[in-house]
Amino acid sequence: MKTLISLKSTIFVIFGGTGDLNLRKLAPALYNLYADGYMPEKFAIIGTARKELDDQKYRDLILEGVNSFSRTGKAVKEKWSKFTDNVHYTPVDVSAPKTFEGLRDKIEAFKTEFGKDTQVIYYLAVAPDLFPLIAKCISDYKLAGDEDTCRIVIEKPFGRDLDTARELNQLLTSIFTEKQIYRIDHYLGKETVQNIMAFRFANSFLEPLWNRTYIDHIQISVTEQLGVGDRGGYYEGAGALRDMIQNHLLQLLCLIGMETPINFDADEIRNKKVDVLKAMRAFGPEDIRLSTVRGQYTKGWVEGKEVPGYRHETGVAPDSNTETFAAIKFFVDNWRWQGIPFYVRTGKRLFQTSSLITIQFKDVPHHIFPSAVTEHWQQNRLIISIQPEMSIRLQVQGKRPGLDMVLNPVDMVFDYKGTYTSDTPEAYETLLLDAMTGDQTQFMRADQVESAWELLMPVINAWESKKSISFPNYTADSWGPEDAEALIARDGFHWFTLPLNKD
Ligand code: NAP
Repeated sequence: MKTLISLKSTIFVIFGGTGDLNLRKLAPALYNLYADGYMPEKFAIIGTARKELDDQKYRDLILEGVNSFSRTGKAVKEKWSKFTDNVHYTPVDVSAPKTFEGLRDKIEAFKTEFGKDTQVIYYLAVAPDLFPLIAKCISDYKLAGDEDTCRIVIEKPFGRDLDTARELNQLLTSIFTEKQIYRIDHYLGKETVQNIMAFRFANSFLEPLWNRTYIDHIQISVTEQLGVGDRGGYYEGAGALRDMIQNHLLQLLCLIGMETPINFDADEIRNKKVDVLKAMRAFGPEDIRLSTVRGQYTKGWVEGKEVPGYRHETGVAPDSNTETFAAIKFFVDNWRWQGIPFYVRTGKRLFQTSSLITIQFKDVPHHIFPSAVTEHWQQNRLIISIQPEMSIRLQVQGKRPGLDMVLNPVDMVFDYKGTYTSDTPEAYETLLLDAMTGDQTQFMRADQVESAWELLMPVINAWESKKSISFPNYTADSWGPEDAEALIARDGFHWFTLPLNKD
């Protein structure tokens, strides 16, 4: 088995070790990193939560998670048995700080065993109201270390508005340095999202076209077929703006909109992303009226099954004002993008689960072909599909084979499945490895998070202070409220989707 010897001995402390995120994502990611030889030679994973469990029971619990959710299928017996020797459990109730003593003793014991170079990574996979408690306990028990020996990974949501995000940043930076803080946005770890950087900055043909002169508009669309399911309680306090746009969609927008970094340094890349957020046009009341749309789903039929409307989901108020859909037109006020709209939409219970970025280029300056041969004329489009299909397709006009000159759009496709045979790692594998190697490129810096909140606060405040009178306003299994179609149609465009069942 190959081992990255450059990785320091690592103690991974997972708060929320019995929770959904750990069982679905973190434990399978750590196991797959181990199976692929990407874990350090010496490592310990310490799961913590309030539940009383011994090591064996905890190992059994996470085995269930791995067997159900790992991208590589069920754990391989031999590998699992070796991996699991490194997995431990200590009960901790973070609202009873004394219970931290057991954890501290365990960390100290592993540090003694592994040597003084050992790094500790605290992963906060718990409800956000526990983040400050955990950070304070880490500090009180003198477990915060320094940049070389300790990191803290914070799950989303990072704050629920600008003030709470600032407050959390202030607390964290009073205990840790910015270099120790890893604010995770798992979207950034996705293979296709990382490939946006490669595609934009490792190919020379794009840059001359990547601006307001040649681009007509940009769409970023992240749609989900699922409803809120059993996460209604959480979602009621969030909504589509907070849950998706403030983080994932704005980060995608930054990757498309950013200037070329001078190198691949984490801070240089994050500086360029923050520049985009800072250049985004602020929303006044009139912009909110004209450039934003909110929606909430009502009941409908999905794949032959009747599904409830949002207000009938568990944990949701019968008169809820929470949006399950949001569409916004943004502008980036700088030389590159002045006047070019970025349409962004996301929602639950929509017709299709997909994440697509569409860059539509301007039309040719003059049509030389007679209209009879250009019936299917379409402006060039570059479509970056993040999921379910992982591909980049360039739609160009081509001549249909035959004696007549007839043009139609054709796709030049780079798809992962057809191009590479190796498995694609899960986003969490990439990000956990980055946390171990100390690479912050794919993690959010304090000013990134705050700038994103700052941009959205006028919309959040307006939507919260004025209840929607039209909710619910779209049917499950549709493409969202009609107003979202109107938002883009007013400018002469329509939302782009990929046909289903492309496999
Ligand atoms: P969850 O299933 O409710 O798990 C919460 C975990 O926290 C459990 O292990 C729970 O165990 C532990 N816990 C609760 N109170 C505690 C306390 N006082 N002291 C110590 N441990 C305590 O939640 P989740 O879905 O895993 O989500 C965790 C975090 O990740 C949240 O911030 C969420 O927003 C974020 N996130 C989750 C997902 C996902 O797919 N689930 C995706 C992205 C982000 P005990 O009850 O035994 O203490």
